[in-house]
Amino acid sequence: MQRLHRLGVEVITNCSAPDFSPGANVRNGPLILSDGREIAADLVLPALGAQPRTNILTNLPEVRINAAGRVIVDEWLRPCPGILPGLFVGGDIVATDDAMTIVATLRQNPFLSKTLRSAARGRRIDTLPPYRPWRDAPMLVPTGPRLGASHLPLPGPLTRVGTMRGFGDVLTRVLKGKDLFVGKYRRLLGAPWVRGSSG
Ligand SMILES: Cc1cc2nc3c(=O)[nH]c(=O)nc-3n(C[C@H](O)[C@H](O)[C@H](O)COP(=O)(O)OP(=O)(O)OC[C@H]3O[C@@H](n4cnc5c(N)ncnc54)[C@H](O)[C@@H]3O)c2cc1C
Repeated sequence: MQRLHRLGVEVITNCSAPDFSPGANVRNGPLILSDGREIAADLVLPALGAQPRTNILTNLPEVRINAAGRVIVDEWLRPCPGILPGLFVGGDIVATDDAMTIVATLRQNPFLSKTLRSAARGRRIDTLPPYRPWRDAPMLVPTGPRLGASHLPLPGPLTRVGTMRGFGDVLTRVLKGKDLFVGKYRRLLGAPWVRGSSG
């Protein structure tokens, strides 16, 4: 947070934006805060948390939803193993201790892939290693293509390197900031290169 502050990012807590409600559209600024402050802005992009959409599962018997609106699963990410032992879920809708992030899916998807492959080879699911959520999830916060701060799940004092001036900037740039993964996903999807794009 200190590093972001030095980069010119102000994080305002204990304050809301009364003009916005969940699902609000992008619109012109300024932004008015609940304490009366006015934040100058050309464009305001509301990102007011997320609500998992579980309706695809809620008609199934045995499916239970927790207080956060996420689907309760067993240790192998199955919502109703009693009746549908081959049904697995992942992402925002699944109630693990993971946050609702892409970072969580980057851990869940390889687990699901490995588990499904083992099941396809005839292994019993309950003999396979259970899913373990992130204990200390990484966080990459670019502030433009060159600067930023990152938290990486490294041991001891190494956890701080991503937030250090210079090293944190380079790390954040290499991991995310330089093209916000556009190049990576363009390659993965086999999409053509577009003139003028950095990805
Ligand atoms: C503004 C914003 C910024 C974010 N930034 C980050 C970030 O920087 N880093 C990060 O790690 N995470 C970020 N996230 C969170 C990340 O986007 C989500 O955690 C991630 O997309 C969840 O993946 P998912 O597959 O579970 O759900 P989604 O990506 O939402 O995909 C679910 C899909 O299912 C479809 N669907 C829903 N209901 C049905 C139905 N009944 N039938 C068929 N299809 C259905 C939806 O249309 C959607 O296409 C951000 C989210 C938001 C909103």
